[in-house]
Amino acid sequence: MQPLKRTSTLALRQRKAHLLGTFQLCPELLHASLIERFLKCGKTNCRCHRDGPKHGPFFYLNRCFPKGQMQSLLLKSPSQIDQARQSVAAYAQVQLVLDQISQINHELLRRGEPLVAAS
Ligand SMILES: [Zn+2]
Repeated sequence: MQPLKRTSTLALRQRKAHLLGTFQLCPELLHASLIERFLKCGKTNCRCHRDGPKHGPFFYLNRCFPKGQMQSLLLKSPSQIDQARQSVAAYAQVQLVLDQISQINHELLRRGEPLVAAS
């Protein structure tokens, strides 16, 4: 993608119109991180406490809250893990589009252009 500063105002407006036109909010959005973990178990004589492989993978869905709090949800079924993966990706996609629109608006403001072209 060409740097915004070297893109014409018309092209910026066209890109923004395209982003807005193709933008879709999908219902499975989820703002969280999918984390894969290998863990030691509770049995101290298990091989995982020596050099053996740890157990897993276990999949956790982590959500962050203000003040550094975090909520962690263990996903138990492959279907949950699949859905979590897709919904986290869907959220990232929406965020990407919003960021692009935001950057275009920032550049338009910097140029002293109206954010919405007069028709
Ligand atoms: Zn173990």
